[in-house]
Amino acid sequence: MLRKLACFALLAALAPHSFGAPAAPDADAALARLADYLRIDTINPPGNESLAVAFLAAIFETEGIAYETFEAAPGRGSIVARLPGGDQLALLLLNHSDVVPADANAWVVPPLSGAERDGYLYGRGAIDTKGLAMIQLEAFLALHRSGRALDRPVLFATTADEEAGGYFGAGWMVRQRPELIADVGFVLNEGGGGRVQGSTPVFSVEVTQKIPLWLRVTARGTPGHGSSPRVRSAPDDLIRALARVTEQRFAPRLLPVVAEGMKAVADLKAPHLRPFYEAPDRLLDDPEGRLALRLDSPGAHALLRDTCSLTRLGGSLKINVIPSQAWAELDCRLLPDTDPDVFMAELETLIDDPAIQITKLMGFTAAVSSTETALYGAMEDTLTEALAEARVVPAMATGFTDSHFFRDLDITAYGFGTVLLGADELSGVHGHNERVNIEAFKAGVGLYYQVLEQFLFGAP
Ligand SMILES: [Zn+2]
Repeated sequence: MLRKLACFALLAALAPHSFGAPAAPDADAALARLADYLRIDTINPPGNESLAVAFLAAIFETEGIAYETFEAAPGRGSIVARLPGGDQLALLLLNHSDVVPADANAWVVPPLSGAERDGYLYGRGAIDTKGLAMIQLEAFLALHRSGRALDRPVLFATTADEEAGGYFGAGWMVRQRPELIADVGFVLNEGGGGRVQGSTPVFSVEVTQKIPLWLRVTARGTPGHGSSPRVRSAPDDLIRALARVTEQRFAPRLLPVVAEGMKAVADLKAPHLRPFYEAPDRLLDDPEGRLALRLDSPGAHALLRDTCSLTRLGGSLKINVIPSQAWAELDCRLLPDTDPDVFMAELETLIDDPAIQITKLMGFTAAVSSTETALYGAMEDTLTEALAEARVVPAMATGFTDSHFFRDLDITAYGFGTVLLGADELSGVHGHNERVNIEAFKAGVGLYYQVLEQFLFGAP
């Protein structure tokens, strides 16, 4: 007994914080870590995400947190750390380490410099998603240091390859290492975030996304000399088929999550758009209203329809040769209640030409996460209490993230962020001069932790 007591005393003396005391996250430490993390070259392709794994593993070693790593291919590493807890469904904090390439000539600082300038921290990934990762990590470390008992495990995962579809990261993990996430019931991932509209902080929580359906359209015909055109050629047939697709305006539909999201911010919109946000079903039979919305915000308009963007085209390698094949690629994005196979069949009917072949390059299944969960409630309660006038709004994303891998497994996944971003910062995501406002980032560190406290302990 005495020996045991002595051991406890020793443990308490070694612990950085006394057990049970709430530990505040350290926003300055998170910022410093982000600057270091931005300097690691994980541009995809090729990715080299194992460099990020080494960076994170060293932190978990220092903190004494258990973790596992895996490589889906050489250099394509991912890492999953775990805080043990009770038998409630686990919470996974998910982010990706790879970033898209950057054109250094167009940046005011080198894209991998992690440089501070005029109150911003610059670097490819500052928002997407190395910034989110360091916010999640600081919350995860603070939870660990607090020593508070958890009634559910909390996981932190940084995965590879999200920018190229996640097949060497989250997609590989759910198929090849399912035991790593077998107890997960909730995922907090990228895809949501805060914006000030007027003077109102609006936090969108992404609960579903449009389904990408990437298609290749191929026309075949008889080759020949450009000087002697035949009646038909592969390029001519292709152009005719593509015109039918691009001129097609797929019927508008209003999903409940889209209607709810639009109504929630109606009063913040320009006067000519406000009536459509107040009563979005008016858009269904008002083509001019849809055009006004599309001119103002192509992204908002895309939430109302299936869309297909023509993005790639190819034909002959020589100007005087009529090729036997011409091809194009279509980036179609479907509302989550569209059946991709039915959609493809409709495209075939629309094109109506046996010389044209459509093949699927990539496609996902759709799923929507409910807002009727304790985690959604925690986000709502915390943010509306912490920031005057703040709104928390469910949203459908036009793009996709790794969340679909988890929604496919019936796991509730939200795209969620606590940094209030300006329009100028959003343009840096996949664009030039990606940067995050330092004060907004630091505030985001505190808010993220408060949301987790609310969810895990019922109160801060
Ligand atoms: Zn991303």
